[in-house]
Amino acid sequence: MNKNCKWCNFKDDYLVIKGYKYWKLSLAESQFLIGWSHAFLKRHVCFFEELTDEELIELKQIVKELKQALKNAFNPDWFNVMQLGNMTPHLHFQLVPRYKDKRTFDGKTFTDDNWGKMIPSRWEPESKEFLVKLRKYIEQYL
Ligand SMILES: [Zn+2]
Repeated sequence: MNKNCKWCNFKDDYLVIKGYKYWKLSLAESQFLIGWSHAFLKRHVCFFEELTDEELIELKQIVKELKQALKNAFNPDWFNVMQLGNMTPHLHFQLVPRYKDKRTFDGKTFTDDNWGKMIPSRWEPESKEFLVKLRKYIEQYL
């Protein structure tokens, strides 16, 4: 536990799709790639190689479950798994569905403008109301 760490002090339970033994799976606040999620470790470590085997196995399970849920929810064409930590070093993974074509949800249209390339550096947080609706929509497929 690090008192200045965003992930150690995570309180935005409305974003949490599912809690696991070692991880939490939550929606990202920015959703220009609809379904963008985070898996963050419940204990404070910084680097990938610090994961125990049990934590790594559970992470694979989370990726598998989320991919299946998103397949039913939005049918992504590809899926990115990234571990960066440049802004918040607590170990977390970006789980990002990618789309060849537009998707719509709750009356909004989402396009993957960088399909086939890196994810652009954009931060466009959605409203809490939208995120709760999206979380419930994804949860029903878990
Ligand atoms: Zn932390």
